[in-house]
Amino acid sequence: MAEMTPMMQQYLKIKAENPDSILFFRLGDFYEMFDNDARTASRELDLTLTSRDKDPTKAPEDRVPMCGVPYHSSDAYIARLIAKGYKVAICEQMEDPATAKGLVKRDIIRVVTPGTVIDAACLDEKSGNFLCSVYLDSQNAGVAFCDLSTGETHATSFSGKDRVEHIVNELGRFSPAEAVVNDGAYSEERLCAVLRERFNCRVENGGEGRFLAGEAERSIRAQFGDAGWESLPADNPAAAMALGGLLKYLYETQKTDLSHINRLDYYEQGRFMELDLAARRNLELTETLRAKERRGSLLWVLDRTKTSMGGRCLRGWLERPLLSVVAINRRSAAVAALVDDTIRREELAAAMSGLGDLERLIGRITYGTAGGRDLAALRAAIEKLPAIAGQLSGFADRQLSELAGRLDLLQDVGELIRSAICDEPPFSVREGGFIRGGYDAEVDRLRDIMSGGKGVLAEMEAREREKTGIPKLKIGYNKVFGYYIEVARAMTDKVPETYIRKQTTANAERYITQELKELEHEILTASERVTALEYQLFTKLREQIVAQAPRIQRTASAVAELDALGSLAAVAVRDNFCRPEVDESGVIEITGGRHPVVERMLKDSLFVPNDTFMGEKEQRVAIITGPNMAGKSTYMRQVALIVLLAQIGSFVPASAAHIGVVDRIFTRIGASDDLAAGQSTFMVEMTEVADILRHATKKSLLILDEIGRGTSTFDGMSIARAVVEYCADPKKLGAKTLFATHYHELTELEDTLPGTVNYNIAVKTRGEDIIFLRKIVPGGADRSYGIEVAKLAGLPEKVVARARTVLEELERENGVQYVKPRAEREQVSLDAVQEGEVLNALRRCQPDTLTPIEAMSLLYELKQKLS
Ligand code: ATP
Repeated sequence: MAEMTPMMQQYLKIKAENPDSILFFRLGDFYEMFDNDARTASRELDLTLTSRDKDPTKAPEDRVPMCGVPYHSSDAYIARLIAKGYKVAICEQMEDPATAKGLVKRDIIRVVTPGTVIDAACLDEKSGNFLCSVYLDSQNAGVAFCDLSTGETHATSFSGKDRVEHIVNELGRFSPAEAVVNDGAYSEERLCAVLRERFNCRVENGGEGRFLAGEAERSIRAQFGDAGWESLPADNPAAAMALGGLLKYLYETQKTDLSHINRLDYYEQGRFMELDLAARRNLELTETLRAKERRGSLLWVLDRTKTSMGGRCLRGWLERPLLSVVAINRRSAAVAALVDDTIRREELAAAMSGLGDLERLIGRITYGTAGGRDLAALRAAIEKLPAIAGQLSGFADRQLSELAGRLDLLQDVGELIRSAICDEPPFSVREGGFIRGGYDAEVDRLRDIMSGGKGVLAEMEAREREKTGIPKLKIGYNKVFGYYIEVARAMTDKVPETYIRKQTTANAERYITQELKELEHEILTASERVTALEYQLFTKLREQIVAQAPRIQRTASAVAELDALGSLAAVAVRDNFCRPEVDESGVIEITGGRHPVVERMLKDSLFVPNDTFMGEKEQRVAIITGPNMAGKSTYMRQVALIVLLAQIGSFVPASAAHIGVVDRIFTRIGASDDLAAGQSTFMVEMTEVADILRHATKKSLLILDEIGRGTSTFDGMSIARAVVEYCADPKKLGAKTLFATHYHELTELEDTLPGTVNYNIAVKTRGEDIIFLRKIVPGGADRSYGIEVAKLAGLPEKVVARARTVLEELERENGVQYVKPRAEREQVSLDAVQEGEVLNALRRCQPDTLTPIEAMSLLYELKQKLS
């Protein structure tokens, strides 16, 4: 170390304090990286490796490698490193190298990490970028999420043996970009695997040092006020611990004003519908299952928001469906009000179009990275608020009135910015030129001076003429002497003593004065001073705006919600949705339901609507059979999506719907290999089924598609049957279940299992071909038509023919016949429950031991069941 230059010693000291970040070390106009950081950066960013070390006695590979990026284009490089999951520590020169004595002071000004980036270039404008923190101990678990770009913060906690599963489900709501966890959470393999693999998340083990109770309380109180602290549960400290750890990590990395993080939303379990990762993925809420694209997801259909804030809000609603009937109805009433008033709805949409991202603007302003353009954008956004408020005041709806009340027109803030910042400010606030003329007298004077000082010089000239009585006195400039006062030779006797003679010309004398010298200095330095002064004024203005941040944030959240409601209303009108009746009835009754995404994707055909009825007792479990490709999966997902839409307060794709809220939706759909995690298709399937059966309740909705397909027929069928029986039995689970299967044998359950009913998706056969009718009808299907569908898919004719022969042989050998639907079953299936009960009673009774009276009363009882 002693042999090194002082600068390298300084570098090593700072690097030692930031071992896990790539250190961007400012040297003049570049950020330089050394050693391993240089190797990593050159590999990830395609930069050429060089070396400062020019010692000819060393082999090139022994020299310390180095690479650099220009200071002014560093953002893009940082963004690329962050996207790859690295942390970047920015080390700045803390003094001007031109005036510094000795080694320039350098320090870390912030550490950019995937969960704390706020640079617009690194963020998706319609989704939040969340840092999360997980705290886990032997009893409790807490998780906190914060979007640094807006200050939005959420936390929740759990206890009991399933706490890790609950945490994993919460992660699904926010899809964090980075996680800081305590030792307990770090040693929980499944949790870390989900974070890394599912969310592509950087996981930082903060150890116990970042999770300290006393410190957590202090920082939570400081950040969110006493009310914030008190909103956390007293009986479960894990939420506070997680939040404390999160704040500590932010303080360590951000080193700046974080006062915009001031709204804490602690939510109890039971406020939102819990969805596990499989359900989120299978229902394709925000991205498609396979391509991971937004197009084709539910959000893609629903999002007609006009602002980024509204887009993020809508996404948040979709990730957190509600459970409270009151809250749901409040939202859907607002959507209904907007649906009913086409003119106002469209005016509102027009007023919100192009409205800037108030939430992120105030975030950047508080955080200190905003420029003049951000302030101008804030002003432009504020100027659009009166039009929104004007339209909003025309609604009587309660929720919309509440939003109107929250909407602060922020005229003072708008006026302040308008008076201070010019219309089109330059990008950087360090180079001046953005303060509006007339805002600050000194800026005006300096600018005047800068532009050759003509006004100031003319004024001085007039003053000197008057003072000396020399009418032709002139102020001039040349490169050698600078500014001078010129007096014709004939008038020199009038020159005062304070004039210092500098030059004699053919017929005049040139002088300088102290005042002129000072003015000259001002003119020469005006540009620098005005830049500094403008920056000072900007800082002051920034502080004035930051003081109003809570008002701006409140308004932003009102606009965001309004935009999200407007979007739901616009979609309801465009796609002909209806307002569902939502209550606690436990019934799901849908008339003319459609799949909102498939319907929009279909190009050559119309979507065929279908009805659904699922009761608390009767028709709780529907066994759905039908040919491949008939539309079983579509139908089941459509029911799940309609319920989910209803619970976010949206209208639903149906002609009428009555939805009793469900506590959770579970899905087991299709085969998905998880070979990376070392699990076979069947193992994945069974793990998911196990999770569902363990966590579902009577109030849950289960979508089970082809359980037991990944193993031998008999094993699979046995498992499928056992699962249906478990789901149907109110003593075991008794959850509402849609169960699609190709095991037609299961349709027999309708007769024996109370609450179970058969449905199939109708097809017509014409010769060897089938026509899909897409209509769900009562009763079981006769067969799967697998070979016909294979033919449709283009399997070679010879293979199809051979398959038919094999099938016939199999049927002959095993005496197997398709389970034909009994004509009468189709008609009586709606009475299946009662019929099943009668059959059960008959099976149980023993005629040999019955007395005639008992036989008589049994007959009455059975008859009554059927009526
Ligand atoms: P498999 O048993 O082979 O998995 P499936 O019965 O689950 O098939 P789906 O995947 O649901 O069939 O549907 C197949 C296709 O049929 C869908 O991609 C969609 O294009 C179309 N479809 C499904 N339902 C409808 C409907 N109600 N109206 C119009 N088209 C439909």
